[in-house]
Amino acid sequence: MVHLIERRSYLGGRASSYLHPGVNEVLDNCQHALFGCCTNLIAFYERIGVGNKIHWTSGMTMIEPGGRRSALGPSLLPAPLHGLPKLLSAHAFTLADKLSLARAFSALIRPIDANSTEPLSAWLERHGQSAGAMNRFWRLVIASALNADLDQIAVPYAAKVVRELFMNSAEAGAMGMSTVPLSELYAGAEAFLSERGAELHLNSSVESAEWDAATSKWTVETRTGPLVTDYLILALPFEATAKLIPGLPPAEGAEKLLTQISNHQHWPICSVHLWFDRQITDLDHAVLLDREIHWMYNKSQLQPWRKTQGSYVELVISASRTFAALDRKQAIEQSVAELAEFFPAVKQAKIEKAALIKEVRATFGVPPGIDANRPSANQSPWPNSFLAGDWTATGWPSTMESAARSGHLAAEALCAKAETPHSFLAPDLKPRGLMRFIR
Ligand SMILES: Cc1cc2nc3c(=O)[nH]c(=O)nc-3n(C[C@H](O)[C@H](O)[C@H](O)COP(=O)(O)OP(=O)(O)OC[C@H]3O[C@@H](n4cnc5c(N)ncnc54)[C@H](O)[C@@H]3O)c2cc1C
Repeated sequence: MVHLIERRSYLGGRASSYLHPGVNEVLDNCQHALFGCCTNLIAFYERIGVGNKIHWTSGMTMIEPGGRRSALGPSLLPAPLHGLPKLLSAHAFTLADKLSLARAFSALIRPIDANSTEPLSAWLERHGQSAGAMNRFWRLVIASALNADLDQIAVPYAAKVVRELFMNSAEAGAMGMSTVPLSELYAGAEAFLSERGAELHLNSSVESAEWDAATSKWTVETRTGPLVTDYLILALPFEATAKLIPGLPPAEGAEKLLTQISNHQHWPICSVHLWFDRQITDLDHAVLLDREIHWMYNKSQLQPWRKTQGSYVELVISASRTFAALDRKQAIEQSVAELAEFFPAVKQAKIEKAALIKEVRATFGVPPGIDANRPSANQSPWPNSFLAGDWTATGWPSTMESAARSGHLAAEALCAKAETPHSFLAPDLKPRGLMRFIR
């Protein structure tokens, strides 16, 4: 029998929602976006029956302060050229920006040496990126996808994002957003597990575990009592894994795992939630240029069941160490003032309520050398146990796709150990168009 032990009273972990007492609304801890290339996450959503709760879009609107818009997105040209016509006509980039982006993209078309130790900032300097390309593409789109400053990003991770989102195919770069609160999305897993005889232990954190070599069984001590199992998958964030290690049996390799964990760093993401008495934009999402607020999600359009009289808009501020230091009043005032520069209707609109959510430990960073600190599923120091979580060796940055991949890899490792080999990992999307011929 499978037991799922979760410390909180709901599923979803860092991708979750809850009733926010200040505004009396169910809020996601932050808007979570996925992309067509997230094949394991999409397979997981299909398996638990929530695949139809994702709204997909292939276009992206960049807006400059003052309101001028540039639409990016695919055309009928074959990959990797499919995004080119709209990029060429985008007002947001000067000719020099477009040429420097073209230069960088062509250098990234082939996979970069995975062992490269060059930070992205140095690589971009070497590839002569203009100020506009730096500020409006690399610092905004790529640094927020990887949620870190450019000097803290390893080039192979940036290259992966650029290739998947902009080069491999229009399908890989399509963006998905949940039409229901995140906890409702992930609650699909609850029904899936229960129907198959698994037991969920919510509000029940793992405190320690003991291995009995004679019976080859684990006894897991939880807040709600002990459980005896054959195998253990630790699917925890890196800092929670570190906290649990003293409660696990001494093992060769535990010290190394602690050292690997100590080399990981968190990056914050903040979100500001605003309810206006009217619609402030016709867009369902947009990238906001040159200001502290980065992404706008028009939640009343993305989640029409909310039946807001006016509109509900969420703003996301990635890699936001400066913004995270602001207090609630400052953060909301600054966000509203900046939002009005993009959408003039904000100036006339009345704000009915507002919330600020700061996730200080949102994601782990991917600086050069980080892969040496990402153990694989079967590099657990303990017998019959496996490691999972977005920070383990999936090759993906801190995303829901990385978490889904890590789960599939841990399940494969467990089945191999139990001598019932099974494959769970979903294949990557195949590159399309001319990208099929590029190795
Ligand atoms: C603000 C924010 C915005 C983000 N935006 C995006 C995005 O747009 N797209 C994207 O793909 N990703 C995004 N992410 C990242 C994404 O949420 C994570 O990568 C993903 O949720 C990680 O999943 P996980 O299962 O590895 O870890 P978690 O989601 O952290 O799950 C670990 C679980 O373990 C539980 N736990 C901890 N200790 C114990 C214990 N001792 N016993 C039992 N249970 C325990 C926790 O309660 C938690 O539920 C964002 C994250 C944040 C915070």
